[in-house]
Amino acid sequence: MMHALPTGDVEIIDLTAPLSSETPIIQLPPPFVNTPGFSLSELSRYDDDRGFWYWNAIETGEHVGTHVDAPNHWITGRDQIGVDRIPLEHLVAPAVVIDKSAECADDPDFLLEVPHVEDWQEENGPLPDGGWLLFRTGWDERSDDQERFLNVDEDGPHTPGVSVECAQWLATTAPIVGMGVETVGTDAGIAGGMSTPFPCHHHLLGAGKYGLTQLQNLAKLPAVGTTLIVAPLPIVDGSGSPARVLALAPRGK
Ligand code: MN
Repeated sequence: MMHALPTGDVEIIDLTAPLSSETPIIQLPPPFVNTPGFSLSELSRYDDDRGFWYWNAIETGEHVGTHVDAPNHWITGRDQIGVDRIPLEHLVAPAVVIDKSAECADDPDFLLEVPHVEDWQEENGPLPDGGWLLFRTGWDERSDDQERFLNVDEDGPHTPGVSVECAQWLATTAPIVGMGVETVGTDAGIAGGMSTPFPCHHHLLGAGKYGLTQLQNLAKLPAVGTTLIVAPLPIVDGSGSPARVLALAPRGK
């Protein structure tokens, strides 16, 4: 795929959300501790006698913006690896896209079920062994507005996700190494109340797999044929990291 780059037959698509103090972050109810968002504080900007440079300090949670969930993020994966130890062949790997954006437009609580993935496989072939399943919901269209992105009402957040059965199936039966989403987390807004709370986190991270969140531009990818490049910071024993995520995709999907 790399040697097709100069010919223009392969396109590089940025799947990463811009990282700023405006980037939406998850809001947990009490008594849970919330994450800080992303912030910059200026150290200097060409502004003293010998100030040839501009630089900032950053503060961010690990789980801010487009980011990776490492297996050790969840209690079920507590003995699994941190974000610094993810094998590189899992970070540069094939990816496929399942598109449920029409369904999610009608139902923000839409859940991906095993039969949806089986139907997708009928049409597109098997899920990639050692690769990623990217779940397109259309939610990236809301990503510059925290209120619309989190979509909270008096019952809590309403954003699409994955059913308990499907999360278990993706963790144990599917050959993928990770699941990528456009929403603030891999689990649905209503996932705290499921029979297994937060099933994507519970099952996938417990199985040593990964989550990848707040992706954009999945609409520009074909169902199959993308190579994904996921680049989290190697935070030693970290539970996750903001990541630059790029796709190499055949042009004109
Ligand atoms: Mn996370």
